[in-house]
Amino acid sequence: MTDPAPLLRVEDVYAGYINDLDILQGVNFKIYPGELVVVIGPNGAGKSTLAKTIFGLLTPRRGTIVFDGKNIVGLKSNQIVQRGMCYVPQIANVFPSLTVDENLEMGAFVRSGSLKELKDRIYALFPRLVERRKQRAGTLSGGERQQLAMGRALMLQPKLLILDEPSAALSPQLVNSVFELIKRINSEGISIILVEQNARKALAMADRGYVLETGRDRFEGSGPDLLNDPKVGELYLGAGRGH
Ligand code: ADP
Repeated sequence: MTDPAPLLRVEDVYAGYINDLDILQGVNFKIYPGELVVVIGPNGAGKSTLAKTIFGLLTPRRGTIVFDGKNIVGLKSNQIVQRGMCYVPQIANVFPSLTVDENLEMGAFVRSGSLKELKDRIYALFPRLVERRKQRAGTLSGGERQQLAMGRALMLQPKLLILDEPSAALSPQLVNSVFELIKRINSEGISIILVEQNARKALAMADRGYVLETGRDRFEGSGPDLLNDPKVGELYLGAGRGH
C-alpha cells in the first residue's frame, strides 16, 4: 500500500506533568493532509494531554512527533505555530478585555495578503462576530467566544488546527453549529484534530477517529467503523443510540 505522508505522526510518545508519572504511555496517532480526525475516550484518558504535547506545551519523555516532515520534539509552541500548527485550548482561549477585532489582530502574523483581507475572510466564516467586532470578548456568549477562539487560530492560516473540546459547556443547538463550522473549516483544506466528549456526533462527521484510554490509543478507525464497532459502542459511546 502506498500511503501518502502523514501531516503529523506521533509515535510511541510518553509524557506527563510530574516527574516519573507518565500520562501518555506510548501513544500512536496520525493525521493525513486534509483529514478531520477525532480523539475520544473517557475523562482523564489523556486527550488534552496529547493535544498539549503535540503543540509543544509538554515535552515528551520518549517517542517521536513529526509534523510536516520535521521532528518537532523539543520545539516550543511559538516555533510550532510558525510551522503551521495552531491549538485552541478548552478554556482561556480569548483575551476578555480586548475587543473581537483586537483579538483577531492579536492572532495574526500575516503570512500572505493583508490583515484586512484575512480578517474579512474570518468574518465571512463567522458572521455573528461581525456584529460584535467592537465588543470586548469578555462580554460574548460561550458559543461566540468559541467562534472567536477558532477565528484567532485561523488568522494564522494553519495547516493543522487542534481543537480541544470546542463544544464543552455549549447547548445542544450550539454544539451543532460549532460542528458545522468545524466541517466548513476542514472543507477549506485545513486538517483538524478534534478532541471531543460528544463522541457519537464527532465520529459521525470525522474521517477517522481514535479512542484513547489510559494514555494509549486503544482503537483507531474510520468514523463509521468506530461508531459501528460493538466494543467501542459498549465501552465508550454509552448505551444510548443515535444521539
Ligand atoms: P482528558 O482530556 O482525556 O480528560 P487529560 O489529558 O485532561 O484527560 O488528563 C489526563 C490526566 O492528566 C488526568 O489524570 C489529569 O488529572 C492529569 N492532568 C491533567 N492536567 C494536569 C496538570 N496540569 N498537572 C498535573 N496533572 C494533570
